[in-house]
Amino acid sequence: MVEHLPEYIDPLALADKHRRFKGSFPLSKMTRLQDVLLDQAGEVKFELEFGKDGKYAVVTGVVMAELVLQCQCCLGSIPWTVNGPVSLAVVGSIDEADLLPDSYEPLLLEEESIPLSDIVQEELLLAVPSIPQHEKCGVSMAKPSEPAQEAQKRPNPFAVLAKLKK
Ligand SMILES: [Zn+2]
Repeated sequence: MVEHLPEYIDPLALADKHRRFKGSFPLSKMTRLQDVLLDQAGEVKFELEFGKDGKYAVVTGVVMAELVLQCQCCLGSIPWTVNGPVSLAVVGSIDEADLLPDSYEPLLLEEESIPLSDIVQEELLLAVPSIPQHEKCGVSMAKPSEPAQEAQKRPNPFAVLAKLKK
């Protein structure tokens, strides 16, 4: 069951053979993800199955990772769980991508073979926000100079917290 993962793959050939891969990559290998990651430690687990759906070569499976993103507002950490289904169809051009059924994301194949890690990385990029931010981060940053003492009675902070959680 344990097999060596290939560095490069030919998705079309693998689809014909209905190959499956299961494994993990270190997050540090996901170079295009580094901009949004606060912590590169850890790994991304994946299961990918190559097959055919009609005329398309498709890749299905799942990608799982516990990421720590960096909030682009306060530079703090945002825990981000990725546990998403993979549903890619191999296309040779943007035009072909436009014709895909909605259930598939395009996997644009410009070379005969691509790094296996690229598919996993692509899925992670789809799963994280391009500009990660705490949900309420911008709100509190917008008015930083609230007077320390207010004549009005301040609302119970726990009541506010409870509201935020809803
Ligand atoms: Zn923040």
